Amino acid sequence: MRKKHGEYLRDKRNRRKEELVKLKGGKCQRCGYSKSLSALGFHHKKGKVKKFNISGKNLSHKTWKELVEESEKCELLCSNCHAEVHDEEGWIHEDGKQTPKMIRTI
Ligand SMILES: [Zn+2]
Repeated sequence: MRKKHGEYLRDKRNRRKEELVKLKGGKCQRCGYSKSLSALGFHHKKGKVKKFNISGKNLSHKTWKELVEESEKCELLCSNCHAEVHDEEGWIHEDGKQTPKMIRTI
């Protein structure tokens, strides 16, 4: 049976994400976590110019070349490590807005 377009795109995204994760070593570059693909993400290293987030629809809409180029500016991190990095560095969003650092006081 022919797959629905939405399903096709989801498969494509998953496949591409899996490939990119593999290219980056297949595990969190801080703690070595590798279990869930959903919990692994691409963190743009400080000082790198971010063109787009490597997630969601960008995984199906961008060309493979663009995705690989963008992933070269990134560290592969698990959700926990990713959150920690952003607590330390703050967030810089695609529209240039910034979320400040999170300072833990207790
Ligand atoms: Zn980690």
